[in-house]
Amino acid sequence: MAPPMSAARFLDILRNEGVTVVEVGDWEHHHRNHRGPWGPVHGVMIHHTVTSGAEATVRICRDGYAGLPGPLCHGVITKDGRVHLVGYGRANHAGLGDDDVLKAVVAERALPPDNEANTDGNRHFYGFECENLGDGEDPWPEAQLDAVERVSAAICRHHRWTERSVIGHLEWQPGKTDPKGFTMAAMRERIRDRLN
Ligand SMILES: [Zn+2]
Repeated sequence: MAPPMSAARFLDILRNEGVTVVEVGDWEHHHRNHRGPWGPVHGVMIHHTVTSGAEATVRICRDGYAGLPGPLCHGVITKDGRVHLVGYGRANHAGLGDDDVLKAVVAERALPPDNEANTDGNRHFYGFECENLGDGEDPWPEAQLDAVERVSAAICRHHRWTERSVIGHLEWQPGKTDPKGFTMAAMRERIRDRLN
């Protein structure tokens, strides 16, 4: 458990991890804090967008769409590996998930199956949306996977978390499939190796 870091610190730790950051508009003050709590934070959640094209993907994640106002995450990881910061604070990315999963993330234990949607995830997770169609065929370029690894490691380093604090949306909320095209187990190994 930890209070969220400041937006300025967030920017610093990403750059220090070698991430190519793009600041989008007034990202530091774009959030949903008026609609609910932000923090304490317990982990990092990875998503895919089901969109293609960097520009459209970043715009949707910043603005949201009818029925789901933005920001839809904190950082958008496009296929070129750049990380576009679109918001900071509470963001509409995690929705309701499983309290048993949250307990496992807090304890950094192996994850149980996600079979309940009873807990507000937007409060507790940093979120990254990755530009991918999510059909299992759209490729994940190495530059993009490298950025997923780096942003996750940077946050874990700051909070003194292990790779077990990084989960996929599909491990949080019943019915979700993202990210699809690589496994979170393999990504956690990469993050573990980077942290060691
Ligand atoms: Zn998702």
